[in-house]
Amino acid sequence: MKELIIDSLVKTYSNGVQALKGVNLTIKEGMFGLLGPNGAGKSTLMRTISTLQEADSGTITFDGIDVTENKMEIRKRLGFLPQDFDFYPNISAVDMLTHFARLKGIVNPRERKEVVNHYLNEVNLFNVKKKHLGSYSGGMKQRFGIAQALLGEPDLLIVDEPTAGLDPKERNHFYNILSALGENRIVILSTHIVEDVSELCSEFAIIHRGEVLLCDNPIQSINHLEGMLWKRLIDKSEIENYSDRFKVISTKLQAGQVQITVLSEELPDESFTSKEPDLSDVYFSTIPADEIV
Ligand code: ADP
Repeated sequence: MKELIIDSLVKTYSNGVQALKGVNLTIKEGMFGLLGPNGAGKSTLMRTISTLQEADSGTITFDGIDVTENKMEIRKRLGFLPQDFDFYPNISAVDMLTHFARLKGIVNPRERKEVVNHYLNEVNLFNVKKKHLGSYSGGMKQRFGIAQALLGEPDLLIVDEPTAGLDPKERNHFYNILSALGENRIVILSTHIVEDVSELCSEFAIIHRGEVLLCDNPIQSINHLEGMLWKRLIDKSEIENYSDRFKVISTKLQAGQVQITVLSEELPDESFTSKEPDLSDVYFSTIPADEIV
């Protein structure tokens, strides 16, 4: 069973921003969600694991190998789908993937063709493989990104904000493809979308301002909130009043009124009813809602 161990990782940018403040995480095979608002430090962590940049201090070990000391070794075993995949709009998917396969060292043309077709098929792009990448929808581009990340059979796959900008149908399609990838490898999915984690991940961490605030299994983390959440509808003008009196973890518009969710061990008052917790409650009770961008 492979493990990725991140120990006391610190990264400060030259402008003084401390993006990682001593991050510790142990990530096992399967789909791991790294959840946090914009600016939390997710991309910094992903880029450091991917050997694209170095941390100031701390270590990352993958399957017993020190990542910083053995960059080439890690790069051979790594697949990376960055947030903004840099596409060449006037080249077809099949030509681009063939080019990447060549870069990955698949030198035999027949084998290369087989591998390329295999992955185009895996991500449902085989029928449109001759179309230019510039004509692809957001979802198709993301699926192409997965195909290129999978070339070379990586056992560590890093996917940065994969569903941002996808419409619900594309997102669903992409979930189906992603969900199959966690077998026998570590997949780290960085996202600010709670649903990505609840749909796909067996373990997850919440990261905020460069710190890991929670690392758990989604179901277990939801169970911890059982019996502690209360909801009621209030008028918009009352939000401040309620926030002063109770620990309001989220507010949601509902038919012109606002539904507030309060975290409390006891019924706050008779006007509240109990609320079944979900993963967004875990998120909002870990990170104050007004700090989520
Ligand atoms: P996330 O991916 O969670 O949105 P990032 O890792 O991109 O977070 O950013 C973490 C913090 O580091 C933010 O405050 C961001 O502004 C800062 N940051 C990220 N990249 C750089 C950089 N190249 N130079 C300076 N500051 C950066």
